[in-house]
Amino acid sequence: MEKAPVLFLGHGSPMNIILKNEYTASLMQLGESLPKPKAILVVSAHWLTKGTFITANKHPEIIYDFYGFPQELYDVRYPCSGATAQIKEAASIFENASIVYDHQRGLDHAAWAVLKHMYPNADIPVMEMSLDYRKNPQEHYELAQKLAPLREHGILIIGSGNMVHNLRLVDWDMDAKPFEWAVNFDNILKQCLIERNHQALIEYEKMGKEALLSIPTNEHYLPLLYAAALQGQDENLTFTYEGFQNASMSMRCLSIGM
Ligand code: ZN
Repeated sequence: MEKAPVLFLGHGSPMNIILKNEYTASLMQLGESLPKPKAILVVSAHWLTKGTFITANKHPEIIYDFYGFPQELYDVRYPCSGATAQIKEAASIFENASIVYDHQRGLDHAAWAVLKHMYPNADIPVMEMSLDYRKNPQEHYELAQKLAPLREHGILIIGSGNMVHNLRLVDWDMDAKPFEWAVNFDNILKQCLIERNHQALIEYEKMGKEALLSIPTNEHYLPLLYAAALQGQDENLTFTYEGFQNASMSMRCLSIGM
């Protein structure tokens, strides 16, 4: 089987679920250009747990984990199936990474907000993975490396978060001019990714004030480390979207190995 690529996707505001903009167009385009995966694993910025879990139910419920948005968003459905068959097939990989199955939880918007644009027919099985809030960035990176063999099973791994994400300083105008510190730090991250300087990405806290403003809490940043850790020695990295929304959110997306 062809080795599946790896993605990191910025997801930003849930409004993107129903919008047609350059960012959502880039997701559609990405879905069309990727080899069709056998299943998708989304590392979610919106599922923090003690230990690392994956959703393992056959018919995952769609979770509307956002509040105060237009009704239209809550009417969106994404009736994909769970990836139970693929989980079974790759059980030893999950076991090796000490990942536990959650048979109850559904999919939050870190998964379906982006998949709705990439795979609107919801015809690919999906599982979601949580972030263990007790782990430090180095430990997340090392856990991610253990997931590499999943790619050989045709499983598309997507880190879903935002490289720069400061909700406190958000501008409700989506097209607001981005903050200078946000643009600068997004560029620094871009450079680290191009240079494959993963150690700097892991030790982002050492990068000063702009890093602290860009990553006040790291749940939206950590999914990037999962994508970076899965980059093979000779694999190229492509930025499939660059841009900002709401002044303080980098919507930068990337693909590895395609
Ligand atoms: Zn989010």
